[in-house]
Parts: sequence; C-alpha cells; structure tokens
Amino acid sequence: MPGGQEQGAEPSCEDLRRRIISCQKCPRLVQYRQSVPISTKRYPGQEFWRKPVPGYGDTKGRLLIVGMAPAASGGNRTGRVFTGDKSAQFLVSALFKSGFCNQPTSEARDDGLRYIDAYVTAAVKCVPPDNRPTLPELENCLPYLKEEINCMPDLRAILVLGRFAFESIARVLRSTGFSLSGSSFRNEGSLDVGNIRIFMAFHPSPRNVNTGKLSEDSFTRTLTGIREYLNETS
Ligand code: SF4
Repeated sequence: MPGGQEQGAEPSCEDLRRRIISCQKCPRLVQYRQSVPISTKRYPGQEFWRKPVPGYGDTKGRLLIVGMAPAASGGNRTGRVFTGDKSAQFLVSALFKSGFCNQPTSEARDDGLRYIDAYVTAAVKCVPPDNRPTLPELENCLPYLKEEINCMPDLRAILVLGRFAFESIARVLRSTGFSLSGSSFRNEGSLDVGNIRIFMAFHPSPRNVNTGKLSEDSFTRTLTGIREYLNETS
C-alpha cells in the first residue's frame, strides 16, 4: 500500500491518501522533494520516497497529532510521517510511554508501528526548502488536513507540534466556523474549541530538543494531560 499500512481507514480516507501522494499542486515543492540531497552513504540501497507524505495512524482514534511538514531524510525519505529521523525518535518514544503506539521506535514504513487511539500528520505534506513552506503552499495543502480531520469521526483532542501547526489548525477550524480569536500558541498550553481540546507543545525537532527548549518532562506533561482529558471524556 502506498505510504505505508493504514489502520482500518474508510474507503474515502484511503482515496484521500492516494490523492495526497499523487499531488503536484505546488511546483516549488514538487521540484524540491525530488531533488533535496539525501545521503546514499548513510542509507545504502534504499529507494527514497520523494513524494507527498500523508498522515498515518488510527482514523477511528480520538487524538490527532499535527506537525509542520516532512523532513528531508525523515518522511520524505521513508514515506511515512515522523519516521526515520531524530524528531520521530523523540515523538514516538514519548507516545509509546503514554500508550499511544505499540512500539518506541519509528524507522521505516514496514517496521510494524501502529498508533493507538491516535493519528499523526503534518500541515504541509511535502518537504519544504529551509523548513519553510510559503503561505500559498500552506493554503494549497490545508484542504487535505481538513479532509483528514473529517476522516476522524471520534476526534476529541488535537496536539499541535509548534506554532506553525497551531496556526494551520486554527485556519482549518476557522474555515469551519469556529472562532479562535485572541488565542495563541504556548508550550504546554491548551484551548477548547467546540468539543475538541487543542493541546500545544514545541515541535520535537533536534534544535528544540538539543537546546532544551523542549524537554522530555515538558512533553510528557502534555501527553499526560491529553491522556487524562481523554479518560475524562470517554
Ligand atoms: S505541499 Fe500539499 S498541496 Fe503542495 S504539492 Fe505537496 S501535497 Fe500537494
């Protein structure tokens, strides 16, 4: 299956994955995803993905986790979001400890990782130069995020990883009539929008982790808060 095994998604959500993977809407990103350097010495014999990276996980889950965009040697290399790089190591290890996935590592599409009650995606599905999608690129891609949300009928919580993800979710929710006026991103913050609670954490990028901007303790507190919230609302 393209983009990795899906976990019991509805046919319409499978169709969404196929449409994302074949998307060519952003000429700059189409060119970049195909040409960004990836070390063949570090990954000998591997065929690199170099296509848009759809979300992955349990569409019947209650938690949606949203990052910014695939990394060059992460999702863009492996074909699965938060897979095969340092950000994935941090995120998936923490999610495993909190019971949101079945193993502590995320290395490749066929590694057996399964999310539990959670679905993971990125606001922009193609790796951008300098980790910076343009506003038109974000606007091109956000309808896919909206469709992914629509594929989660039991959604109750969204964890945004960083300010970009927060602003992206805010745009999607505003487009469906919700008001988020006056709200802004804050690490360990949260916000109720309708019957969904948005939780916020810095993105687990190597820069944020190595500089101490995001600590394991801080991220664990956020995940514990999500777990408690989901337990209360079930
Ligand atoms: S960023 Fe999104 S809209 Fe743009 S080409 Fe990639 S998948 Fe398509």
